[in-house]
Amino acid sequence: MSDTKHKIIIAVDGFSSCGKSTFAKAIAARLGYIFIDTGAMYRAVTLHALEHGAIRSGMVDEEAVVKLLDRISITFRFNPERGASDIYVNGDLAEGKIRTIEVSNCVSRVSAIPEVRRRLVALQQEMGRRRGVVMDGRDIGTVVFPDAELKLFMTADPAVRAQRRYKELTAKGDQVTLEEIERNIRERDKIDMTRAVSPLRQADDAVVLDNSHMSVDEQMAWFMDLYHRRTQG
Ligand code: C5P
Repeated sequence: MSDTKHKIIIAVDGFSSCGKSTFAKAIAARLGYIFIDTGAMYRAVTLHALEHGAIRSGMVDEEAVVKLLDRISITFRFNPERGASDIYVNGDLAEGKIRTIEVSNCVSRVSAIPEVRRRLVALQQEMGRRRGVVMDGRDIGTVVFPDAELKLFMTADPAVRAQRRYKELTAKGDQVTLEEIERNIRERDKIDMTRAVSPLRQADDAVVLDNSHMSVDEQMAWFMDLYHRRTQG
């Protein structure tokens, strides 16, 4: 549990598949904070668009996606078994369906749509209003909470990232190849960094964490040292 009285916002941004969610979730559990996975929100909109014909054969119909936004309600509910919140779309559990390669292949194009970002950023700001949150994504320290007290920017060697995601998906029984995952990671990084609205970039006051060769325990020790220096110094 946190030993500080003042709850802060911790922004965790960075590249695809470098363990942001795993790490952000561990930090939140350690500090007694709420963990919010904003990537899951963009994935949920993408899943809904796939299920309602706004994406066909990999082609994203931006107008149709924007029309769907009025009919999507995204909520999180804590799941004690996972020790994290599951995402629900219009009351239906979507957690298991949002991390497929099909969703991954379309999500960066959906998240580049300005109206999608405007809506989800507003929702994220509302979720973090009372502070005491660890939020992971691409634009948390730059756009969603530019005043976050602690900002991390995570990165890792692309080959290491692809291996990690490959292990995760094949362990679940997904039929994917390492090449397909590498291609997806490269493609998402490129779209995320070059989109017109809030592209992925390191906030000037973010601290970089390259975890290519670090375990979660090592990352946690590094983080707690930084956290204590920031909140008690
Ligand atoms: O974090 P995750 O890899 O699940 O995010 C999926 C996609 O959602 C990213 O590749 C990115 O295109 C988009 N995203 C975003 N802004 C965020 C979080 C995720 O654009 N804050």
